[in-house]
Order: sequence, then structure tokens, then C-alpha cells
Amino acid sequence: MNLNNPIYYINGVSNVRASLIAAELRLSSINDLLHFFPFRYIDRTKFYKINELIDNNSDIQIIGRITSLKTIQQKKGSRLIGKLQDETGTMELVWFKGHKWLKDAIKINTPYVVYGKLNHFKGNFSIVHPEMDLLENHKKKIQTKLQPVYSSTDKLVNSGLSNKIFRGYVQNILLQIFEQIQESLSSELISNQGLIGKKEALLNIHFPTSPEMLEKAQYRLKFEELFFIQLQLVRKKLIRKNKIKGYVFAKVGTVFNEFYNHYLPFNLTNAQKVVLKEIRNDVASNAHMNRLLQGDVGSGKTIVALLAMLIAIDNGFQASIIAPTEILATQHFKAINELLQNIDVSVALLTGSSSVKKRREIHESLENGKLNILIGTHALLEDKVKFQNLGIAIIDEQHRFGVAQRSKMWQKNTLPPHILVMTATPIPRTLAMSVYGDLDISVIDELPPGRKEVKTVHRNDNNRLAVFKFMKQEIEKGRQVYVVYPLIQESQAMDYKDLMDGYESISREFPVPKYQISIVHGKMKATDKEYEMQRFVKGETQIMVATTVIEVGVNVPNASIMVIESSERFGLSQLHQLRGRVGRGADQSYCVLLSSFKLSTEAKTRLKTMVETSDGFKIAEVDLKLRGPGNMMGTQQSGVLNLKIADVVRDSPILYRARNSALEILQDDQNLTKVKNNRIQKTYTEISKTTGAWSNIS
Ligand code: ADP
Ligand code: MG
Repeated sequence: MNLNNPIYYINGVSNVRASLIAAELRLSSINDLLHFFPFRYIDRTKFYKINELIDNNSDIQIIGRITSLKTIQQKKGSRLIGKLQDETGTMELVWFKGHKWLKDAIKINTPYVVYGKLNHFKGNFSIVHPEMDLLENHKKKIQTKLQPVYSSTDKLVNSGLSNKIFRGYVQNILLQIFEQIQESLSSELISNQGLIGKKEALLNIHFPTSPEMLEKAQYRLKFEELFFIQLQLVRKKLIRKNKIKGYVFAKVGTVFNEFYNHYLPFNLTNAQKVVLKEIRNDVASNAHMNRLLQGDVGSGKTIVALLAMLIAIDNGFQASIIAPTEILATQHFKAINELLQNIDVSVALLTGSSSVKKRREIHESLENGKLNILIGTHALLEDKVKFQNLGIAIIDEQHRFGVAQRSKMWQKNTLPPHILVMTATPIPRTLAMSVYGDLDISVIDELPPGRKEVKTVHRNDNNRLAVFKFMKQEIEKGRQVYVVYPLIQESQAMDYKDLMDGYESISREFPVPKYQISIVHGKMKATDKEYEMQRFVKGETQIMVATTVIEVGVNVPNASIMVIESSERFGLSQLHQLRGRVGRGADQSYCVLLSSFKLSTEAKTRLKTMVETSDGFKIAEVDLKLRGPGNMMGTQQSGVLNLKIADVVRDSPILYRARNSALEILQDDQNLTKVKNNRIQKTYTEISKTTGAWSNIS
């Protein structure tokens, strides 16, 4: 038997069972099974005597002999009862199924190790469907104090694949192939990090010889898992830095300086300055920039993007911004046009609704180089759109764009344009390290001065009238209001009904002609949506009833109240994004979280977090803790979802060490060609074959 053999090579694993295991647990080779780790362990060090049992014992084990077996007929079927006896007393073992087989298999008056959950009824103790091992067999097994429990599925259990049998398989494997297990880390790394060897680790993760060894095994395997992910990410990043050439923007010239010195409407925050410097360093080197810019809503990412584009223009290149929606693209276009009104730079907007004539003009001026900045939506990615020399591409709200789309822009040039990806979804550091570990990351962690924090309150549904009253007062002052309904899936009829009911009740409460209401949802045609949005943007309507389609980026500074209906149904990052729609103007803004009275603990935590803080990074940390990395934005394509043992939240200290080790090793030996890194290189190559998609984020 070797590690690459299919699992039906294991004694007792039939083809049928092997396919079932493959289907249910996605395990197909011996090696897969070896790396399928227990999710908990049961303490099997203690043996009870029958006269020691008390009725709050849970899982117990006893050594005893079965002295008799009898079947008792009942209305609902029959029970098989075995009398279990040790030198201190007797108790019962009970089976509801498999009687015939059991009667044949059980050896009367022979010592067994019996294990199971203890039941207590009127002074009598019993175990239903106990796990049983002949004492003499038990002694032959790998001696473990902590017995592994593997996750299973109903299908597996119903087909007779109990944990005991599963344990048997793993034990079989370990006994047979133990000597074939190869160390995957270098001796240097093992000793530097104080790790135990691979063999020892695998043995102890399945059959720990002590709690201490279990801990060491877990640490070693977690480290290894995170280390190889980091090795891939860091290597990719180093290769990009060293190998992929980028355009050199050597100078900061007149366009930038003119704008910066005379037309910048405010002083940059320190955070903005730092990020701008990071970008300037990138584009001035001859490496290719691939940078992620994180900054909370309203932190001022646009101006940073604009300044980066001006540097490109100063060096004779074109620049572009691509946004996920037409509304956002239009907003960027307007904002940038206004900022650049006194600067000799040409800017155009290209979206799905640009006219044929307009398109033709744009295509032409792009190709002959007259157009400096092109702002738009997906339309920018069409083949007809050919830049003369695109130097930098800014991508707003990265999670909306796929990998393939991004690479299309690259093909328009000889060299790839520098890439700046902007996201308003703060990602906790540990997660960013795992998901975007191959990108450079900049963070704007400071809001422009003078921002008033949005006052956030949580109210129950029966306070709705008070909320309406408050809305009226604010509208009286000339403010505008968003009322947002959850639409988890655009197709869900119920959500849609909630929205329409809500719209009707608001229409009744806020009647025309005094009040005008816009409504926007995903089922509307794009042009109708746009029309309704525009009415709100222009101030023709005071209330915008909407689904989360308004989540991203809409900027209406006069809107100062965000009412979120059924807020318990939104995720934290969504709530945070929604709240970011207000607090953009000079007025005090408010966010009202409406919910039903009965809330889950998790929902309570979410709403409490929203009321307590407006720091996007803090909110993201809570979100990560609540939901785990699998549900966080942007993680879908990354390896953090497929981790077998490590957890990027709980194991963040190990993650940092793993990343540093990967960095150290690669800085010294980028291609892992040194003899001492032989084993790492081998494992790395194998892993890369199967997980090539890990870091294909950009
Ligand atoms: P976001 O990061 O959400 O894209 P924006 O770039 O839209 O944020 O900026 C939000 C608002 O803050 C804009 O009105 C912008 O003009 C303003 N702003 C940006 N930077 C500063 C600054 N340093 N000082 C004052 N206002 C700023
Ligand atoms: Mg923005």
C-alpha cells in the first residue's frame, strides 16, 4: 500500500464504500484519509467500575463481561438486552437494531471494553448501542488516550460506517504506511519553529499519546498548512515584483503639480498622503503595481485614485477607472470632471447607455491618445475599446469584477497597466494576508476631518410610528431619507412583497403632493432604476425606498437618514455599507436599525456592534468572528476556505509566523533550489499542482 493508492486498498473498504466516502467526504486516496483530521477527541484514559457510576456521567468506558443476552418484545419492535457485569456490579446494554448479527458476534463471558453514553433510569444504568471491543483486541490497537472522532454524514452512518470503523481504517493506514510518510519541511524550519516531525504529527493528530502531543501535532500541522499557502502567495508577489515589468512613471509633472498646488479642494489626510506615497514608489520603479487600496466608505479613495492617474498622464500615459454600476461610474465622472475643470486633461464616460456616436468618438480619441482618462463600467472591457497606452487602471469595488475581466485590460498593452483596486469593504489583516497575500495592500484608516459620526440607534418594529415622525421632522428641514429593505435573493417573492408593502405604508404615511417617493429595486429595468435614482439625487423626491441595490457608492450628501427595515436579516458588512450612504454632508446624520423584537444572539451582536462603532475594521473583525472566513467578501476564490486544520481567525499568531518564515526562506532562495529547501520545494510543487487557483485574485 502506498499513499497514492485509492482507499479501497484498505482492508475492509469495498468499492461501494469507497465511492460513498468519496461522495460524502471527498476523500479518495490513502493520503486524503490520512489528512482527514478528527474534529474532536474523547478521553479514553478512565475506566469506570460499575459501582462508581453516577447519573451525571456522560460518556464512560467499562471493562466487563456479558453474562446473558435476551430479546424483549415491545409494541414498537424489540430490544436486545445484555447484562454487563464486572467485579463490582451489573448494568444493561441495549440494542434496538442488528439483533441477529449481535447475537452471533457477541462472545458471552468474555472481557470487553464497552464505551458509550450512560443512561440512568430508576437506579438502573444502561448504555444504548455501546461501542464494544474485545479486551484482547483493544490491547493490540495503537494506544491512545484521546480517541479521535471524525466528522461524518447521515448517509455514512446509515450505511454502517461508524466512527469506530473509520478509526479502524485510519489505524490500518498508519500501521502500514507509517514509514512512507515524508517530512515536508526543512530541518532548519522545523528546529527554528520548534515543530515536531511530520510522522509524529500525523500519528498524534489521529491517535494522540497525550494531550501535550496532540497540541504539538495540531500546531505543527496548522503551521505547515498556513506556511505553504503563504509560500505560494509570497512567491507570487516576489516574482511579480522582480519579473513583471511595469511602465515607469519617472516624474511628477505639471498636470499633477498644477492640480495639487492650486485646485485640490482640501488638504489630504495623513492616511491619504501615505497611500499616495506608496503608489508613487510603486509606479516609479520598473515593477508592475498590483495594489489593493482599502478604505472605509467616505475615507476619500477617489482623490487618491485621481492623483495617481495624473501622475500617469504626466508621464504620457492614459488612465481609466472602472466601476461596478452605471450610477457609480457617472458619479466618478462628474466628481472628477469638476475637480479637473481648470486642468487641461480630457475625461470621458463610457457606459452601456453611451450612444453609438459617443462611443465612436471615444474609441477614436482613445486610440489616437487625445483622451487622457476614461471612466466607465464593464463597457470599458469590450474588445473595441483600445487604449493607445493605458498606464494605470483603477478598479472600484473590486469584488464585483472577475479575474478574467481584469486580465482582458492587460491585453490591450504591451506591458500590463498598473493596477489599483479600491475596496470599501475593510478586510481584517489576517484574512487579507491569506486572501490577498500576493498583492500589496494600502489602507486609508482615517476619515477626513470634520465628519460627524452617524448616530445609530436600534428600534423595535413597534416604534415605527416614532421613526416616521422623526423622518417628517428631518424632511421638514430639507433632508432626504433612505428606507432600505432586505432582499437576500432578488428572486424571493416574500422579500419583494415586504418591499412593496413597506412602500405602500410609507406612501400612505407620506402622501403626495407634500412628499415624493422614489422606489428602486432589482426587478426594475436599468433605465427606470436610473430615472428613480436621479430624481432622488436631484432632490425631487425626499424618500428613497430601496433594496440593497443602493449599497455601493451612491453619493447624495443631502440624504441624512438611513432607515434599515428588518435589519436583523442583514450581515454586518452590508449594514456598514448601507450606513455609509449617509453622513456625507455637513448635517448630523442618523441610522435607524429596525428589527423584530425576538432576535438571535448573533443578530443582537450585529446590531449592538453597529450601534457601538463606526470603524469599518472593527466591524469586519466582529463579522469575521461571527461568520468565519468562508462567508467574507472576496474569500470565495481563496484557499482559506479549504483549510483542513488551521483557522485564519483563531490561529492568527501561527499565520504571522508562517508568513514570516515563507518570506525569509524565499528572500534567501526564491526558487527553492538550495539543497536545504529540497523537501519544501517538493511539497510546494505538489501543492501548486492541485491548488493553482489559490491566489488568482488578480
Ligand atoms: P470613498 O473612499 O468612499 O470613495 P470619496 O472619495 O467619495 O470616498 O470621498 C468622500 C468625500 O470626502 C468626498 O466628498 C470627498 O471630496 C471628500 N474628501 C476626500 N478627501 C478629503 C480630505 N482629505 N478632506 C476633506 N474632504 C475629503
Ligand atoms: Mg468611492
